Amino acid sequence: MHEIFQNARVVIGADGSHSIVRKVAMEDKFSHQEVLRHLVELKYQTTGRMQPRGFKEASVDVIKHSRLAFETTSKDQSKPTKPVTLHLFVDQPTYESMRIEDDEGRLKGVFGNSWSLSDLESLAKTDDKIQRVYGQITDHLTEVLLRDGDCQNEQISTLELNVYKSARSAIKFNNKYVLLVGDAESGLVLERGFNKGLKGAAICAQAVSTYFQNENLKDEGMPESFVSYENETLEIFESELRFAKIKNVALNTVEKSLNGSRMVKETSFKMSETSSNASSKVFSSSKWDNGNNADTTSSCIVS
Ligand SMILES: Cc1cc2nc3c(=O)[nH]c(=O)nc-3n(C[C@H](O)[C@H](O)[C@H](O)COP(=O)(O)OP(=O)(O)OC[C@H]3O[C@@H](n4cnc5c(N)ncnc54)[C@H](O)[C@@H]3O)c2cc1C
Repeated sequence: MHEIFQNARVVIGADGSHSIVRKVAMEDKFSHQEVLRHLVELKYQTTGRMQPRGFKEASVDVIKHSRLAFETTSKDQSKPTKPVTLHLFVDQPTYESMRIEDDEGRLKGVFGNSWSLSDLESLAKTDDKIQRVYGQITDHLTEVLLRDGDCQNEQISTLELNVYKSARSAIKFNNKYVLLVGDAESGLVLERGFNKGLKGAAICAQAVSTYFQNENLKDEGMPESFVSYENETLEIFESELRFAKIKNVALNTVEKSLNGSRMVKETSFKMSETSSNASSKVFSSSKWDNGNNADTTSSCIVS
């Protein structure tokens, strides 16, 4: 950094979550690190004419599989293919079951060494948790056909949604002031990251401008505007983290109620299988049943 920017007095690290500037100047020290959620991520290419899924399709998916799932599809229809991402919120045991070593001893189920659909089908035969993920993904891809889509080059991996904050946002390093901004400075999840980054970028620009206008450039200490920058980034982080946590609590509540309804479904299946004296009748809807597992069938009990 010193060699490339010999005459620079201020260096801004806006190089994302794996920031090299943070590593070099601040030794990658964090004041906050927390995993809020776990995800399974399906990425694939589809035909350019595929429409994003609507509220109805999304609701059917969530209710049928008792699990939250979010699809991101470009609306751009001008290219022959476009990328689609499906995020399934999973529990930690499911996340861990999909991160295992491959035959060469490399971690599988991560970006750069992902699962294919047929890999997942094989794993699903011996693991109920993966079978549930596989059932939801195959149902999603069946529904995609109805939207004029298809699935090419699928990649299935797992992700942790991490929240973190660099211990320092501004530091004096090799006679230069180094400021971090955006994901380099702190990372948020549940759609708060970009918001926080924009706020941080605005006050960073202000702090640098104030420094060059007002500060004594020969001063050896930390300039007032950069001290303020550190305090303000902490305030923004804490306020955005509160938003993310409120959102997370809301998601947890929805998940709990979905899990509750799933247990009722499973119990109703067990009752229908074991009870010979049927004082109650169990009806199951076959239109959603893809034959993969009991989760995929809806049922109701009529006394
Ligand atoms: C899957 C996903 C979904 C998201 N969804 C949302 C959302 O819906 N809403 C929301 O608010 N936020 C969302 N976020 C978070 C949001 O994307 C980030 O907070 C935001 O992009 C951070 O911007 P940034 O500029 O700090 O970092 P980045 O966007 O990571 O940009 C860093 C840049 O630095 C470059 N770089 C890195 N190292 C070097 C180097 N050595 N030399 C030169 N260049 C380098 C990189 O190539 C990159 O262009 C999401 C993030 C992910 C991963």
